[in-house]
Amino acid sequence: MEKYDIIIENGASICYNRKGDSISALKTGGRIRVLIKPNSIKGLIVALQNTSDDRIVLGNMTNTLISDQGINRELIITSAVKGVHVDEDSLICSTGESLSNACIVARKFGLSGMESLAGIPGSIGGAVAMNAGAFGGYMSDIIESAEVYIDGNIVHMNREELGMTYRHSSLLDNGGVLISAVLRLVHKNPILIASSMKDARTKRHLSQPLEVSLGSVFKRANDNGAGYYIEKCGLKGSRVGEAEVSTKHANFIINTGKCTSNDYYKLMCHIQKTVEKECGVLLQREVRLIGEFEE
Ligand SMILES: Cc1cc2nc3c(=O)[nH]c(=O)nc-3n(C[C@H](O)[C@H](O)[C@H](O)COP(=O)(O)OP(=O)(O)OC[C@H]3O[C@@H](n4cnc5c(N)ncnc54)[C@H](O)[C@@H]3O)c2cc1C
Repeated sequence: MEKYDIIIENGASICYNRKGDSISALKTGGRIRVLIKPNSIKGLIVALQNTSDDRIVLGNMTNTLISDQGINRELIITSAVKGVHVDEDSLICSTGESLSNACIVARKFGLSGMESLAGIPGSIGGAVAMNAGAFGGYMSDIIESAEVYIDGNIVHMNREELGMTYRHSSLLDNGGVLISAVLRLVHKNPILIASSMKDARTKRHLSQPLEVSLGSVFKRANDNGAGYYIEKCGLKGSRVGEAEVSTKHANFIINTGKCTSNDYYKLMCHIQKTVEKECGVLLQREVRLIGEFEE
């Protein structure tokens, strides 16, 4: 049997030459040679076992810019690998479960610890890999352990082994793929949890643009949000093609219509250069790039 038949047989769909802009969060990107979408943990593991080592694994693509030239490698998308279970004070989440749904379940069962994360788009896998966080709370505060596919084996990793630091984890360096994660929370009145989650969402809506974006473009620098420097340089509203520096939050680049990945990339480079020249600060990208880009 061909390897793609084995993958399909074990619970996945495969598309060839699918346009990236039809699936990416920013609605940009060229054709993806082989797009594999498993629908269960078993399907994901079989897909990992039957693809080459240079495969790419993504969740909801809310932090990833796909090149307009597309991806000439196998891409596995985990967003259909759903599941979240409550075990006393823990949530056991499959990698493709949305962080927002995990927050809803935590709230419903009176489990506290995820309040500040409410409203971050993306999957559990992406949130662990990126150590997603907001308003002083991080995934690393609540993760207890994870099952990770690495070098052909499934291994159990504890919090230390996941090496989670600011917007980074060991998974981004060692090619490990998160299969599932255990989040350790504490019991609390669901009404108080709901109220804190509502506050986090409100703060988010008041400070961030609602247009299509990839969230924060750059990481914090010298204890300041990158937006502080970008705004100081007068870059709010700057455009390349249909990519625009949000006038609401300077660290967001929004797609105003038919933006391409290269528009986004060029604007990002322009911001980086301007801030370095005018403020002497070299901003580091938070957004992850896949494929080739031209300045
Ligand atoms: C409007 C908006 C607001 C945002 N607000 C925030 C915020 O407040 N805080 C914040 O931290 N982020 C924020 N983000 C960014 C993004 O939502 C988070 O980084 C999110 O955790 C990414 O999840 P994802 O599934 O979309 O990851 P993807 O973009 O699919 O992937 C991101 C990275 O994680 C890796 N990855 C994905 N899944 C796995 C896996 N199973 N195993 C190993 N590696 C994996 C990918 O290879 C890639 O390198 C925001 C984005 C948007 C669009």
